Amino acid sequence: MADHVQLFCDFVAKSPSAFHAAHTLCAMLEDGGYTPLAESQPWTIVPGGKYYVTRNRSSVIAFAIPQTGFAHFQIVSSHSDSPTFKLKHSCEDEAAGGSYLRLNVERYGGMIMSSWFDRPLSIAGRVLVRDGGRLSTKLVDLGRDAVLIPNMPIHFNREVNDGYKFNAQVDLLPLYGGKGSRGKLHAEIAAAAGVSEDAVVSRDLFLYARQTGSVWGAENEFFSCPRIDDLECAYTSAAAFLSSEAVGHINVLAVFDNEEVGSSSKQGADSTFLTDVFARVGQALGASDSEIRAAIASSFMASADNAHAVHPNHPEKYDAQNCTFLNGGVVIKHNANQKYTTDAVSCAIFSALCEKAGVPVQHFANRSDVLGGSTLGNIANTHASMNTVDIGLAQLAMHSSVETAGCADVEYMVRALTALYTSNIAVHADGEIAID
Ligand code: ZN
Repeated sequence: MADHVQLFCDFVAKSPSAFHAAHTLCAMLEDGGYTPLAESQPWTIVPGGKYYVTRNRSSVIAFAIPQTGFAHFQIVSSHSDSPTFKLKHSCEDEAAGGSYLRLNVERYGGMIMSSWFDRPLSIAGRVLVRDGGRLSTKLVDLGRDAVLIPNMPIHFNREVNDGYKFNAQVDLLPLYGGKGSRGKLHAEIAAAAGVSEDAVVSRDLFLYARQTGSVWGAENEFFSCPRIDDLECAYTSAAAFLSSEAVGHINVLAVFDNEEVGSSSKQGADSTFLTDVFARVGQALGASDSEIRAAIASSFMASADNAHAVHPNHPEKYDAQNCTFLNGGVVIKHNANQKYTTDAVSCAIFSALCEKAGVPVQHFANRSDVLGGSTLGNIANTHASMNTVDIGLAQLAMHSSVETAGCADVEYMVRALTALYTSNIAVHADGEIAID
């Protein structure tokens, strides 16, 4: 059996930014026989065909058509981005009279800032380069310990353990070099892109933690690595998708960028990406507008984004009857205000799939006096509306630069999502579903 924990840690190491995560997913899809399509070109799609398309090179949608042709969609969606710091356009910043070169960065998403200190970091993302008469995109990863955000010594910051408020513009700027370092970052980025310095026109570059995955605990039951939220769901859904045959429905793998900043970008879950793909698949297979709408209405989606495991030192923060633990199985997330899409219908469908796969299920709801987080399922549903369940794997320290999850859960999620992709979830009427 595949060691999905190791494979996941390898996936994370190859995915230092959302652009790299999408690139890694595309490589997996190509290996699996999936053909790339471009949104800017007409699509030719045939029954039995397997395809993928990217938007912004940071969101990916892949789909497998059954031999029988157009049908409803069975989708797992997740996100490719994680909280981090983005380099500002002009980022070289000399400090202490030119003795240091810092980088001017801004927050991307809501990270635990204290977790980014005193940890060697690197820089990855994409650059646009001049290439003769055109502009082209290059992935960039410095791939070395290149910068670090140093803490203040406790002697100069006695409140650091008493609720010190970090200022992102002051406390979180990473150190890149000493005297005379101005210009070296640009040179290093150009070298990493394989182009001359004057060819680099613009860039989307982010800090990332280089720590590799580590398995630990009394029985090696836990693992820690960066970007578990939400690459764990991106990886497990891709693994399940690639091992499943589409029979009687169209399997869809959707991985969106920008969930951590609200999804409202051209490539986020709050965009037309998913609905555009549905419409184009239907049109390419000769379906009418009415047939496409009927297929969407009969579809099922699992919005997969990680969940909170009970913190060992703060169990009082969690709802006692609706709390989840590492290695307890796939989590179904509930919220009365529909921040999570789960309702009795989608919960019943997904529970049946897990039962079929022999995978344990846990149920999560926030304490009623805790606001909790949000995700992409309800946002995607406002564009393509269908029965949708919010799921995830329980993890600790969400949005820390290094997070922790349970080893057994990785396998559980692959099995549960394989059941989703290999079962036929047929809507017979509103609220009447058959699973076989
Ligand atoms: Zn997430």
